[in-house]
Amino acid sequence: MTKATTEFQQQESLAAFDRACKFMPGGVNSPARAFGAVGGKPLFIERAEGPYLYDVDGNQLIDYIGSWGPMIMGHAHPKVVEAIREAALRGTSYGAPTRAETELAELIVEAVPSIEKLRLVNSGTEATMSAIRLARGATGRDKIIKFAGNYHGHADSLLVAAGSSAANLGVPDSPGVTAGTSQDTLVLQYNDAEQLERAFTEHGGQLACVILEPVVGNMGCVPPRPGFLERARELCTQHGTVLIFDEVMTGFRVAYGGAQALYGVTPDLTTMGKIVGGGLPMGLYGGRADLMDQVLPAGKVFQAGTLSGNPLATAAGGAALRLLRDESPYAYLEEQGKRLEVGLHQAATDAGVPHQIQRVGSMMTLFFHDRPVRCWLDASECDRTRFGKYFWGLIEHGVYMPCSQFEALFFSSTHTPQLIDQTVEAAAAVLKSL
Ligand SMILES: *Cc1c(COP(=O)(O)O)cnc(C)c1O
Repeated sequence: MTKATTEFQQQESLAAFDRACKFMPGGVNSPARAFGAVGGKPLFIERAEGPYLYDVDGNQLIDYIGSWGPMIMGHAHPKVVEAIREAALRGTSYGAPTRAETELAELIVEAVPSIEKLRLVNSGTEATMSAIRLARGATGRDKIIKFAGNYHGHADSLLVAAGSSAANLGVPDSPGVTAGTSQDTLVLQYNDAEQLERAFTEHGGQLACVILEPVVGNMGCVPPRPGFLERARELCTQHGTVLIFDEVMTGFRVAYGGAQALYGVTPDLTTMGKIVGGGLPMGLYGGRADLMDQVLPAGKVFQAGTLSGNPLATAAGGAALRLLRDESPYAYLEEQGKRLEVGLHQAATDAGVPHQIQRVGSMMTLFFHDRPVRCWLDASECDRTRFGKYFWGLIEHGVYMPCSQFEALFFSSTHTPQLIDQTVEAAAAVLKSL
């Protein structure tokens, strides 16, 4: 284990990155980690605890990505670690059912009333891909609606105007995605209910589903405008279209029952990931029992997974969800979120930097934009060069923010008011120097 240094160092990370680049495309296993949107080279992490990341140079960093969402109770929480250890001692995978899967399913169904039945999978990508197959299978229709800047993982039909790293890389349409696949995907602007109405007028009878992030995290944090989710619900009901809330990011993040609890709008299907796996690879899709019963082997819509419901993942996820249920950190996270928001707003105002801060609970984004960001058209106007400088300035002050203007920051129940204040002080110094 390395010792924390006081001055920012990067030699070891640079060496680790050079070596990684020889064996892996771009040196990483997921593009969001490569710092492509902010310039420079990524830090290699050695360990994490509570609110901190420790990199291979011994820098201690206050973490605001939380593994891009999962670590809502902080890194290496003793109860989660213990649950994983106990499970591992009983064997790491069986390929046969376990009671832990049912116990986890019960926890989720209790937390999210719209989910009557669910299927565990291994990632958010698998969850959304499978939910869309089910929506198409159940309706016998082909077309789907998604919104620009919403990211739903990397399944072919969803890699059209996707947010997150796809947005950063400027390849919303990836090579390898066929025209045939993307022609059934209609892409609309988020928060534009009139455009959605027009799409239903034109294609209503052909639409299998509408999939959306009920609070967008993948073009930075963009909350739904009043009435937008409600209108999507009404239109889907009128036209027999399946409404899918992609709560891979917001599930158990913005409220215990997800964004659907916060906004009081009920989808037909929900996808989750990130927090539900407690930091291990897991996702799920679930919803109305009559829809879920169309999935094999109860029904005919094919979907399977050798490692689905893996005992380590269900142990970690179960431990994390029980912590969230029993300790309910949401009021605390809201309080600290407000503290960070107010502090950053003051710091940016004092520095004379045009900005917008958008936040729902413990997910938020400081946009370098002078107007509210409501859709991808707005988000794409942000000053990304300024964001890159802000990001690196904060790293040098020991604060690790998401490495893109189009990613929301996350913090955990282990982020104390003192750490939030320290973050605001660092940001104030950096914003003044921009
Ligand atoms: C992260 C994310 C996904 C993809 O999940 P993976 O586990 O990375 O495949 C899908 N949808 C949303 C909203 C996400 O934030």
